[in-house]
Formats: sequence, structure tokens, C-alpha cells
Amino acid sequence: PTQPYDDNNVFARILRGELPSKTVYEDEHALAFHDINPLAPVHILVIPKGRYVSWDDFSEKASDAEIAGFTRAVGKVAREAGLVEIGYRVMANTGLRGGQEVPHLHMHIFGGTTLGPMLA
Ligand code: 5GP
Repeated sequence: PTQPYDDNNVFARILRGELPSKTVYEDEHALAFHDINPLAPVHILVIPKGRYVSWDDFSEKASDAEIAGFTRAVGKVAREAGLVEIGYRVMANTGLRGGQEVPHLHMHIFGGTTLGPMLA
């Protein structure tokens, strides 16, 4: 079972404009911004605007429109960042043992270099 959504998590605060972020893209369903501690030359986070704790929560509860809008936004952000030619990685850490620290679903987009088998 997924934990209840915490309205004070940092990404909720970014969505409400209470914390600054370097926005790279925004639409009805998604917001994308640069990770504050980049692990690759390009490291962007894409989050849904809805209150979803994790990939697990989102994939179970989000509407088809939210899932489609968010998924398309992730692809669009990567294309607009110029990552398609060289390739990139999309990753969603999920849950405690999955390395998730912020309890609002976020897709990491990594790129701009040759990525190894894992980014630990
Ligand atoms: P997780 O480990 O939950 O998958 O990833 C959380 C990510 O959010 C980390 O890469 C971390 O650097 C990033 N992060 C945490 N707090 C902030 C913040 O306030 N602003 C931004 N832009 N990124 C953050």
C-alpha cells in the first residue's frame, strides 16, 4: 500500500510556486525542471501536476488523460533538450528500497554523456 500524499513535499511546494526551480517545460499535466544536484550533464525531473506519491500510485490511480499527458511530456522534454540523437535514460525510483527520496512521482531524465549500466 502506498503512503498518503504529503502536501508539504518539496515538489508539491515547487508546483505551488513556494520554492523556486529552473523550469524547462510546463503544460496542463506536467512540470519539468533541472535537478538541483545533477548526476549527468543533463539531469531533468518531470513531475505530474496531480498528487501522486510514486510511479506505483500514478500507474494505478491516474486517469488515462493524465497518464497520456505526462508520458508525452517526458518524451517532449527529452526531445527539446536535444537528447534523442545521442540517447538518454528515463528513471523513476519507486519506494523506500527503490531509492525514492521525494514522495511525489518524478521521472529522472539523464543525458548528455555516455551513460553506464546504472546511475547509483
Ligand atoms: P529521488 O531520489 O527521490 O528519485 O530523487 C529526488 C531528486 O530530487 C534528487 O535527484 C534531488 O537532487 C532532487 N531534488 C531534491 N530537492 C530538490 C529541490 O528542491 N529542487 C530540485 N530542483 N531538485 C531537488
